[in-house]
Amino acid sequence: MKRCAQCHGKLGLGVCSRNLWNGWWWVDVRFCSSRCAALYELKQQDTNARRWRTVLARLKFSTEVTDPFRLAIGTQCSATATAATT
Ligand SMILES: [Zn+2]
Repeated sequence: MKRCAQCHGKLGLGVCSRNLWNGWWWVDVRFCSSRCAALYELKQQDTNARRWRTVLARLKFSTEVTDPFRLAIGTQCSATATAATT
């Protein structure tokens, strides 16, 4: 039994079928109404946008880590920390 992807209600006669890009692949999703389809699409767009922001944030972070100046500070800090514990 197929259910609505948005409200998980049983699908009646007015089934709305959409092919949506979920960020990785195309998915065939079914909705009980066009309202549910619109809501689901909005949610998906938001999820995809947030995913891209995470990816961009990670890229930014990796450049900071590979930055030689910051890397030097990091080594210095860890050296002091080990000296203090011993
Ligand atoms: Zn629904």
